[in-house]
Amino acid sequence: MHCPFCGADDTKVVDSRLVAEGDQVRRRRQCLSCHERFTTYEVAELVMPRIIKQDGTREPFDERKLRAGLLRALEKRPVSIEDIESAINHIKHFLQATGEREIKAFTVGEKVMEQLQKLDEVAYVRFASVYRRFKDLTEFRREIDRLEKQPESEQAEPKQSEQD
Ligand SMILES: [Zn+2]
Repeated sequence: MHCPFCGADDTKVVDSRLVAEGDQVRRRRQCLSCHERFTTYEVAELVMPRIIKQDGTREPFDERKLRAGLLRALEKRPVSIEDIESAINHIKHFLQATGEREIKAFTVGEKVMEQLQKLDEVAYVRFASVYRRFKDLTEFRREIDRLEKQPESEQAEPKQSEQD
């Protein structure tokens, strides 16, 4: 990196150590031209990406909004707050791990649905019905059928004659 004193191109690292309990790397550098010394700190960038909405506008990631959406879907459902927080952390970690600076709201929504499906199927269907804006009852029923056919589903399948 450039020397902050004389602007020369080349500086060398004379010392490098972990600081802040290993969360930062502190480097002592020396300019090859003017021989001044200076310090740089390196930290991992773990910022939340901005959200690209369907209309193309961008907005900052809002954890409160995410939590509110999950809680709304999980209202009066037998799911502990620990499990909800763990799902939120999972979603946040996923978003950070993409390394993207911007991410489609659609991708976030899909991730939320994946987590909700693990937590509670009723909440999942509630969220999906709003999020996916099911066009009609047929589409809604198809999603329910898809859920019931999944092997890990413990829901009793009602014995009904096929009709549609
Ligand atoms: Zn210099």
